[in-house]
Amino acid sequence: MKVLKFGGTSVANPENINKVRSILENLDSEKVAVVVSAFGGVTDLLITTAHLASSQDLNYKMSLQEIEERHLNTIRELIPVQAQSQVLSKVKGDLNTLETLLEGSFLIGELTPKLSDKIVSYGELLSSFIITEYFKNVGLDIAFKDSRELIITDNNYGKAVVDFPETNANCQAFFEENTHQIVLLPGFMASSKSGDSTTLGRGGSDFTAAIIAAAQQASILEIWTDVSGMYTANPKLVKQAKCISQISYEEAMELSHFGAKVLYPPTIQPVLGKKIPIAIKNTFEPESLGTLIGENHNGQGKTVRGISHVGNISLLSLEGPGMIGTPGISKRFFETLSLKNISIVLITQASSEHSICVGIADGDAEVATEAVNETFAYEISRNRIKPVNLEKDLTIVALVGDNMKSHQGLSGKMFSTLGKNNVNIRAIAQGASERNISAVIRKDDVRKALNSLHETFFEENIKQLNLFVMGVGNVGSKFLAQIRQQKKYLKEEMKLNVRVIGISNSRTMAFDEDGISLKEWEATLSRGEKADKKQFFDRVKSLNYRNSVFVDNTASAAVSDSYTNYLRNSISVVTCNKIACSSDLGYYKELKHLAKQYNAPFLFETNVGAGLPIIDTLKHLIASGDKVRKIQAVLSGSLNFIFNTFNNSVTFHDVVKEAQEQGYTEPDPTIDLSGIDVMRKILILARESGYPLDIGDIHNDSFLPKESLETKTNDEFFASLKKYEADFQKLYKEAVKSESKLKYVAQFEDGQAQVGLQKIPKGHDFYNLEGSDNIVLFYTERYPDQPLIIKGAGAGADVTASGIFADIVRIGNF
Ligand code: ADP
Ligand code: ASP
Ligand code: MG
Repeated sequence: MKVLKFGGTSVANPENINKVRSILENLDSEKVAVVVSAFGGVTDLLITTAHLASSQDLNYKMSLQEIEERHLNTIRELIPVQAQSQVLSKVKGDLNTLETLLEGSFLIGELTPKLSDKIVSYGELLSSFIITEYFKNVGLDIAFKDSRELIITDNNYGKAVVDFPETNANCQAFFEENTHQIVLLPGFMASSKSGDSTTLGRGGSDFTAAIIAAAQQASILEIWTDVSGMYTANPKLVKQAKCISQISYEEAMELSHFGAKVLYPPTIQPVLGKKIPIAIKNTFEPESLGTLIGENHNGQGKTVRGISHVGNISLLSLEGPGMIGTPGISKRFFETLSLKNISIVLITQASSEHSICVGIADGDAEVATEAVNETFAYEISRNRIKPVNLEKDLTIVALVGDNMKSHQGLSGKMFSTLGKNNVNIRAIAQGASERNISAVIRKDDVRKALNSLHETFFEENIKQLNLFVMGVGNVGSKFLAQIRQQKKYLKEEMKLNVRVIGISNSRTMAFDEDGISLKEWEATLSRGEKADKKQFFDRVKSLNYRNSVFVDNTASAAVSDSYTNYLRNSISVVTCNKIACSSDLGYYKELKHLAKQYNAPFLFETNVGAGLPIIDTLKHLIASGDKVRKIQAVLSGSLNFIFNTFNNSVTFHDVVKEAQEQGYTEPDPTIDLSGIDVMRKILILARESGYPLDIGDIHNDSFLPKESLETKTNDEFFASLKKYEADFQKLYKEAVKSESKLKYVAQFEDGQAQVGLQKIPKGHDFYNLEGSDNIVLFYTERYPDQPLIIKGAGAGADVTASGIFADIVRIGNF
């Protein structure tokens, strides 16, 4: 005999019930017991209705009406008209009784556990009857059996304890007599010895099926549900979760104990002793293999088999000096909870014996706190023990696997993964069997914690990076295009899954939790909501994704002022905006400090030399113990272009105009021509070399006349260039005369920095610098005479975008 159980979603509506029908029609001739749940959502609805009634809220009637309609509509849809009346009259009779029970509760204003079980069991009672009638009508050889006549329990309402000897005897007697191929029974509900309805705990239909399977020594117990098996993590929260094809009873039990709701935890116990395998199958994809739970399926050497989580947990801790070395404290503590029928999900005790801490359901928290405080009232009054400390709204996340015990370093890996993602751990516990390691975390961090742990333990080192990009102009749009082009390569070759979750320009912003399509980002953005920097940050924070990166492609001070917010939430920052690193020294230091403290890289390679690896090289030099003595550099692509193009056959004015038109200068060309831009860059290099300079410490020997420097508009500026053309020609002539070229040079030596126009003689490393190229010479203790040279294109949207890209990849490898 086989036992099949169909859960709430599998029987939620006529369409789904027909899926069940076709599974039953395709069975071989073996006899089967079929256990069904209430129609999906009905148990919850019954509980809500009962609570409304008992709190004397007349809305219970509306809720009841909804329950009635669900069942009556299902009958009308499934059962042929000629057979309907008999089914309808039985169901209406049951619904009337249900109404009477609710009315009773309404009048008395009370809901005893006993009455609650009676009411709640109507979900399964009705669904099983209706489904049996439908299957009879379509010609299946089927009979109905009320589980209350087979499964006998104590009267611990809500989670009754089964009397196995009596139950087994009832089952054996009944199935021996049964002649039908299929017997259909309601799950979840049972009966006490005195004949009252009881229930087996939420999700208990799985257990009903296991009890019958064990009593009948079934060949297999099949749990048919809405997912294709037991997954490495809840597939509703972790998209990358994979189905586990085979798993041991113990591992499955541990996963379900820690919240893998796909299997109700007590289900395994009755079948384990009889070695009956459990298959978890998907009603909506019957051909999928699903999961097989059995003996010794210990996962082909895999250590961690799954990650699960239980929500609505409270931590209750008791501590105080009076606990040290005092025997019996733990006994009294646990006894108190046990007397109140409170089950403990997790226990931790510090080795100092200074405190005991347990995880219990939120719903039990108040009762538990009061009871424990009462037990220890004497010690509390004498300050030997502190009153109970209660923390609510927590979640337990657990790693589970039989082979975990033989591997070192798993907890280290688990906690460093959580730590890197700024998930605060409130308590930890490791099962004595070493089959699980669990951590208690905040509810808001669950999705992030599950996904990052899943990535660490299951995704062959594929790391997901979640980008939030502000600024999609010249550089930003090139950057998005580059990611789109490289996405496949990054995933396959570098094991990086880069997704853009949010984008914004100055007008609108858009988010897509599954990643914005990089083919259509422009359309997505134009349909977006009104841009707002604060709201953008709030959104990034509340999404709380692992490996989040904020990318700033703007030149705005308001944006760079917000970096601290991001870093403080462990969100990395990548920026081509120079303002943060070249303004106040205190702010620069704070950003560096926050990046370290919150494990969130702050990278700005493109601040100097666009895509050239200048800052990264400098960092490596310093990290390996080298010391910078001198830096000489041409760092302005714009000025290099201007002085490479300028000669006695063109005017300086026209060359600058051309540079502006070709996008080589900032929109305001004085930023480049005054040398400010180069000052910022050498300042950043000096700071990265370990010198705490400020912009005011840099000497700027400007080649522009004072009047040009003081202009207010671009027009005034260009007019002044015309006026002083003779001065510029003079600069050129002097250079030619000394067989030199004009280069705008930045220099840093002995803690002093300066920028200015220089005549560079033939043979110098700067002499042949073409177009808008940049060059940097690092003279260090290891490179004292022959400097380390970095040279190449130092301006332009494409190379800047690729520099940002490189920073993103660096974070991927972090
Ligand atoms: P049923 O009504 O069929 O009993 P449940 O809702 O009780 O179904 O259980 C199935 C659900 O369990 C899935 O839809 C899924 O959201 C959840 N679940 C939690 N953890 C896991 C896991 N590790 N593998 C599969 N499903 C899981
Ligand atoms: N219907 C019950 C519940 O929702 C039992 C079950 O579905 O397993 O808890
Ligand atoms: Mg279930």
